[in-house]
Amino acid sequence: MTEQTFTSRELRPRTVAVIGAGPSGLAVARELERAGHRVTVLEERDTVAGKCESVDVDGRAYDLGGHICTTRYERIAELVTELDVETERTSRYRVLDVEGRAATRQAMSFLREESFLRYLALREREFPHIADPGLAHSARALAAPVTQWLAEHDLQSLAESFGTGYTAAGYGYLDDDVPALYLVKYAEMTGLLAGPPELLGHTGAFTVVGGFGALWRRVAEELKDVRCGVRVESVERRAEGVRVHTDVGPVEADDLVLAVALDRVLPVLDATEEERDLASRIRANAYHTTLATASGLPADAFYFLDAHTASRESKGHCVSYHHRYPDSDVRTFYSYGHPEDVGARLREDVAGLGGRLEAVHLEREWAFMPHFASGDLADGALDRLDALQGRNHTYHVGGLPAFELIECAVAHAQDLARRRFPPAGGTLTLP
Ligand SMILES: Cc1cc2nc3c(=O)[nH]c(=O)nc-3n(C[C@H](O)[C@H](O)[C@H](O)COP(=O)(O)OP(=O)(O)OC[C@H]3O[C@@H](n4cnc5c(N)ncnc54)[C@H](O)[C@@H]3O)c2cc1C
Repeated sequence: MTEQTFTSRELRPRTVAVIGAGPSGLAVARELERAGHRVTVLEERDTVAGKCESVDVDGRAYDLGGHICTTRYERIAELVTELDVETERTSRYRVLDVEGRAATRQAMSFLREESFLRYLALREREFPHIADPGLAHSARALAAPVTQWLAEHDLQSLAESFGTGYTAAGYGYLDDDVPALYLVKYAEMTGLLAGPPELLGHTGAFTVVGGFGALWRRVAEELKDVRCGVRVESVERRAEGVRVHTDVGPVEADDLVLAVALDRVLPVLDATEEERDLASRIRANAYHTTLATASGLPADAFYFLDAHTASRESKGHCVSYHHRYPDSDVRTFYSYGHPEDVGARLREDVAGLGGRLEAVHLEREWAFMPHFASGDLADGALDRLDALQGRNHTYHVGGLPAFELIECAVAHAQDLARRRFPPAGGTLTLP
């Protein structure tokens, strides 16, 4: 540990505007308030939670987005403990053979093979920090397109074990050649490659009782100034600080935290050339959640649909569904593709599995998994994003620097706040 000294100006309470009230924005705001700073969170939707929103149907909470935690979710475990939020085991996972309609356990043969030992040695040598918060530390080592990287290291069985879940969860088709970085980070975060055997008394995946949105509402309730339903019209950054113009008036602050991907906020930002260039390189997957009542389908599990996750040729078909409450026919279905095709394709897919789509309660499209392509990662796009931290009073958190998983987003956001915003009036020792 090294002593780091801050000037008295740096140790005064700072005012911070945070744009976005998803897990990253709320985690950063909580951390900043605890350190004695004054935070205003601005959220365009009417509710907090972002991609972790839950909705009620017939008195039951259904998660539209993020809700599954693994034994690697230590920051989330701390948060639910501090806030006294109850957790429970999640549904089991099953791979569903679309043709034969038979469900089987996920094949985790990778973990039993000699290739796993080779993977561990490779990790130690080339990307030892992969499970730490952030992605930049491992980006260059894992920049190659995933199929190329797997072939180069003779690790195809890693894809056989983790690829179905990865594609089913929205991270793209392996033959679309997303960079290896993202598959490896995902696999590490399942808790199956390393990490503690249990967390909060759960030996496998767990979630929040009553919907994951409830956790973020609890976090927001403890914050002093969270404004929902606010439209940010423009952002002005000057030497003395930041002014965020909104449809309900301006917010002045010393600093700005963008808890939304840079490309999403670019239209309202007084962006620099570097910010524009990086924003133009960000990609995201069009991924959809459909909350619907459907009868006659395999029940009581989270199903990954094998043929629909195998290749990008199947894009548009339903890749997975979650039947959370055994005594209800409401399910959450997940698909990629164009929003106008999702409903019709889903009806066909449900029929193909021997079921019937009775009623659609809600459809939501996400710009899922902000990421960079292989060439940009190899050229240091994530290092460039890191170099922007603090420039122009602006900081970046969220899925792009952290990876699109709740634990990754929260850990990265908390660490950024701790590193860059010393406690007001205090002294600090930083690593
Ligand atoms: C279908 C789905 C399933 C998922 N499943 C899991 C899972 O099981 N486990 C897991 O760990 N993760 C899962 N995730 C990922 C997880 O939900 C995200 O990683 C997490 O929500 C990211 O948090 P964030 O705050 O960075 O971004 P977001 O959750 O996207 O929050 C960003 C917020 O910013 C707001 N915003 C955007 N633009 C503006 C603007 N201009 N002005 C003001 N506000 C703005 C948005 O409305 C939103 O509230 C899932 C996501 C989806 C979509």
